[in-house]
This record gives sequence, structure tokens and C-alpha cells, in this order.
Amino acid sequence: MSTAILGLPRSLDASVDTLKSIGPTNAARLAKLGVRTVRDLLLTLPFGWESYESAQLDTLVPGRQASVVGTILSIKLVTTRHRKMRLTEATVGDDGGTEMRVVWFNNPFVLKKLQMGDRVALAGLVKGSRYGNRPEMTNPHYERLEADVEAQPKRVGGLMPKYHLVDGLTSRRIAGWVEAVLPLAGRLEDLLPPEVRERNNLLSVVDSVRQGHKPDTDAEYWQARRRMAFAELFELQAAFAMMRARIAAEPAVAIPYRQDVIDAFKAGLGFELTRAQRKATWDAFKDMQETVPMNRLLDGDVGSGKTAVAAACVAMAHAAGMQAVVMAPTEILARQHLRKFRTYLEDSLPGLTVELLVSNQTAAERRRVRSAAASGHCALVVGTHALIEDDVEFANLGLAVVDEQHRFGTRQRELLRSKGRGRPHFLAMTATPIPRTLALATYGEMTLSVMDEMPPGRTPVETEVIEPDARGRAYDLVRAEVAAGHQAFVICPLIEESETLVVRSATAEFERLQKDVFADLRLGLIHGRLKDKEEVMQRFVAGEIDVLVATAVVEVGLDVPNATVMMIEGADRFGLAQLHQFRGRVGRGSAASRCLLLADEPSEKSLSRLQLLTRVDNGFTLAEEDMRLRGMGELMGARQHGMSDVAMDALLQPELLSEVRIEAERIVQQDPELADHAALHAAVQRRLELTSIS
Ligand code: ADP
Ligand code: MG
Repeated sequence: MSTAILGLPRSLDASVDTLKSIGPTNAARLAKLGVRTVRDLLLTLPFGWESYESAQLDTLVPGRQASVVGTILSIKLVTTRHRKMRLTEATVGDDGGTEMRVVWFNNPFVLKKLQMGDRVALAGLVKGSRYGNRPEMTNPHYERLEADVEAQPKRVGGLMPKYHLVDGLTSRRIAGWVEAVLPLAGRLEDLLPPEVRERNNLLSVVDSVRQGHKPDTDAEYWQARRRMAFAELFELQAAFAMMRARIAAEPAVAIPYRQDVIDAFKAGLGFELTRAQRKATWDAFKDMQETVPMNRLLDGDVGSGKTAVAAACVAMAHAAGMQAVVMAPTEILARQHLRKFRTYLEDSLPGLTVELLVSNQTAAERRRVRSAAASGHCALVVGTHALIEDDVEFANLGLAVVDEQHRFGTRQRELLRSKGRGRPHFLAMTATPIPRTLALATYGEMTLSVMDEMPPGRTPVETEVIEPDARGRAYDLVRAEVAAGHQAFVICPLIEESETLVVRSATAEFERLQKDVFADLRLGLIHGRLKDKEEVMQRFVAGEIDVLVATAVVEVGLDVPNATVMMIEGADRFGLAQLHQFRGRVGRGSAASRCLLLADEPSEKSLSRLQLLTRVDNGFTLAEEDMRLRGMGELMGARQHGMSDVAMDALLQPELLSEVRIEAERIVQQDPELADHAALHAAVQRRLELTSIS
């Protein structure tokens, strides 16, 4: 045993760069994929497989993937006449005299590995030849074999794993590293209790790691993958169950339901609540009547009217003699809230006063608001991060509300909740529609209210995909809207991995538009590195800017009813959910609005995603579609949610998630501190630490 793992790290927690073949550069690359330790490397299964059936040169079928063995008859580096591309060209033949042409683009390295006369295994897509009947392969995987005719390829052909990659990595290299540490798989602790595995027919972690990286059949791979997904979701749900138990252990003050309060509130609103608003309000009232603190997420599209639901809760808390606090991510949003809450509440509920607390106020004003909060004099304080500072105190905080909750870390939310004596009831709001299963999987510590209905009288935003050579028409539309007294957004493309590049390209686009396209209009620029983001927004809100050139930072619940055009460059680079968020920035007033999607060279797939936006205006439907369309190979979204793509894919089967939740709850109920489940305890602990440092 010990000789078999000689030279390998002793602990599964060892960093991957302790492996000689990996080293610091590759370790940094792997870290981008979330792979830091040997354990991570073992537990990260391929996301799919290429299947290369072994074939003979004379029976190759164009259009199929195959692996063949042959001898190199010639191999040389050539430079193409036009475009000056360097390629390695080879001819491979078998004993029967059949030949195949092979080309590698931009890979002169091949020449160092392969020589004339070598026996070689190749795996790739077979193409028919343009010259006669000879088959061809482009950029095939290759492996030099021993001269011995019996020698079989080790890594080429059959099922070849596809791992998620970043620049500088290949699936072959990762497969090599995995192979090197696979002898350590036997030490992996199984966080799934045996009875859970048995009930759900799941492999052990050891078997699923071995068989997930090196399956003999597709079925074996899927078995392994199912177990991995189950275990990951189980770990998450166990963590949520523990969080819920901890929250429930600290009681809140019960806020009784009063019909007269809701009647007065409704009378003062000036509109009828939608069915979704009534349902969400009722969900919250039921929670608040208990001494187990409410912990609810209100998920509703931009403009669905979440503020009114929060206001109803504030009214009820006030009637019970409790104060409330509402925290928003920016000062503009906080001020917007101040206006709305005052309109919704101050006239109809006498004695209910609303105050603002942001860092950009005079010291005297802040002092006044702080003492109104501390004395219990004011019923509601709305504000920004300024609310969670040490010197802010409440006499009797019963309800804490966080708007755009994904913009705050767990710690900030905790700080806000700690302002109460005991636990205040907690309401989080998000304008990012998420499919229900995903919400349960990622926000499992909260209960969910979905607001999937818009207040009446809204005109949907007309959405259009603009061909690259019709950009001029988009500019004309912008110009026409501005001439009619309206305003427009131009969103700059997302550039992966580099905020600096994003800022540079947005600045360049701003200058180009100002100089060449909209010289006579008032342009503004906003991006993440700008110090005075709020001031630019303020000027846009005040109508002093006609066209606001922006990066993704503009994606918050901002209300500018006068903005009627949203033009998005490089639309194919954004996720559907994000595009929908951008679109929600317009169409907030009574005028008809447009969303123009531009993409330079969209793939067919991304074009069909964009087309979806032109047809669907319900955020939840879009989110579901986005989840379905997101191929296994695309990991961006998954990583944003702190979940592997394997687990994300498993969410497409809602039954699986509900099984997982039942099992996780059962365990935590039987063993609240997970004292008898060491591996699970350790995994949950790692997970909880991860989420509380954000
Ligand atoms: P969001 O869910 O994006 O926070 P808001 O609460 O800001 O949405 O509401 C958007 C706009 O719709 C506000 O101007 C609000 O007054 C209005 N509104 C909310 N609910 C209704 C309703 N039931 N009927 C008509 N207008 C409503
Ligand atoms: Mg809002």
C-alpha cells in the first residue's frame, strides 16, 4: 500500500502544487476552476466524454469520431500560402496500404513528439478528403506507441474525459494529474451515511471517484455523476438545515396580524395589490406571527412591486410596537425607497415615521436619525451600509429587510439582524428571478415567496436582435427617442476576467460615441472603477444625461421612468438572466420602450438564446429556459451559485432535490450537531465558513 502511493502528498488537503507534475503555474490555473487541494482534484469529475471507437483506416466513416493506430509515413511543418498559417501535416498508413492525411494547426510541438516511422494512435473526428478518397483528421489527440505491434494506447481512444478548462490546461493534462492521485481515492471520507446511500441506491465516494474519472461505460460515468451531485446537494442542504436550526433557536417577538392595519394600509396605497403581492404579504404575515424568526426570500421580477409587500410588513410591525429597518445597496436606491415607503405608509398610518440613514449626510442629520432610531421614535429607517455601523441602535427592532440581497454578504446581513434584541424577523428581496429548484438549492435556509406577476397597465419592452451591419439603425432609434425627450442606456460588452479591460473598452466606446455618433447629445459614462458612480446616476435620474454608457454596474433596481431605450453591445456574452435585468431598466414609465440586442458574431446557439428574449418577457420563464439551455460545458453560472455544474445539472430533476432535502433534514433532526457524522460535519463546516466570509 505505502509503496503504491510513494511520492504522493500525504493529506487530501494538500495543495495540488505539491504534486511535481502540476507546479505553481498550473495550480493557479486549477484554482480558477475551484480545484485547490488533492481532494478537489479527485472530486471534480469530467463534465462529459468524447467517445472514440477503435477503427481501421480502410473502414473509417466521415462524420464519426474514431481512434486508429498506424505508422507515420511523412510528417512536416508547412506554412499556408494565404493567411500564412503554420501547420503540421502528416500522412499515416496501415499495413494494407490505406493512408490518412492528418493536420494539426498551430501546434509545432507535435513535431517534437512524433517522427517518421513512429507507430501512433490518433483519435478525432473523421472527415472525407477534398482530394480523392483519403480520409482526414484535424487536430486529433495523439499518442506515440512502442514499436511493438502489440502495444496499445493508454490515453487515446475509447472514452476520453472532458474536464472544464481555462487557458493553458487541456483535458489530457488534467486526466494525467487525476491518474497520478487516483491511488489516494481510497482515503476519501464518505459524507453520505451508509443508510442514505442504500436508500437512494448510490455508489460510495471511492467507487464514484474511480469510476467517474475512468469509466468503462457511459452508464458507469452517469452513476458516479449522480452520486456526486447527490452528495453535493446533500452537503448544502445539511448546511441549510443547521443554519435554520440555529436561527430558530433564538426567538423573535411575535407580531400579531391585525385586519384594521392591513385595511388602512390598502386604503392608502392608491392601487390594488396584485394576486402575487397579496400571496407574498400573507406568507410574511403568517411567519411574523410566530416566535421562530421569519427568514423569507421575496423573489420577484423588476417592477413586480416588492416594495409594497415590504411596506405592509413594516406597517404590521409598527402596529405591534416594533421598529423596522430596510437596507439597500446604493444611496440612490435607499433614497428611492425613502420616497416609496413614505408614500405608502406615512399618510395612512398616523404616527409611522420613516427616516433615511446614508453616509453621505451631514453629521447633524445622521445624529438626529440615530437618536430617533435609538429612542424608538421612528418606525422605519431606510438606508445603506451606513445602517450596520456600530453606533446605530434601535429601541425595539422587530423586522429587518434587505433589498437586492445578493449584493450583500452573509456577514452584513447578520450585522443588520444583530441590531435587534433577540432576532428580528427577516425579509430578503431579490429582483433576479430564479427557478424554484435553484432557489431551494442555493437559498435553502430561507423560505421562498415568488412574485411572478406584474402590476397591470405595463407595456412590455419591445425586444429586438439587431444585425451587426444594422447598428446605424439602432443609433437612429436612440436618437429619435432622445429627440422625443427620453433617455437611453448603452451597455458595453462583458470582457472575461479583467475589470481593467472592461473599463478601458467602456471608456473607448464612450469617447467614440461622443465624437462620432452622438456629438450633439449629452453623454455620460459609468463603470465599476468610477468613484462618483452615484453622482453620475443622480445626473441621469435628473435628466441631465441623454445617453448613459455603462458596464454591468447599472444592473440594480434603479427606477428611471424616462429611459426608453436599452441598447446592449456584445449581448451574446451575457447570460439571459442578466440581459433580462438590463431590459428591466427601461419600460418603467408609461412610454413604449425598446431593448436592442447587438452581437458581433454570435454562434447559432447564442443567437437562439437572444431570440428567446424577443419572445419571452417573464423573468421566471427565461430563467428556467436559461437553466435548460446552459450546456454542461458552461460553468460560469454554476460557479456563481457556488455549486458545481454536476450539481446544477442535477437540479433539472426537481424530484432528486426533494429527496436530498428529506434526507438532509432527517440527519440534522436525528443528530443536530452532526456529532456522529464526522465527514459530513467537516464538509458542512467548510461550506459554512465559505459562505460567512463573503
Ligand atoms: P420592485 O419589485 O422592482 O421593487 P417596485 O416595488 O419598485 O418594484 O414597484 C414598481 C412600481 O410599480 C412602483 O412605481 C410601484 O408604485 C408600482 N406598483 C407596485 N405595485 C403595484 C400594483 N399592484 N398596481 C400598480 N402599481 C404598482
Ligand atoms: Mg425594488
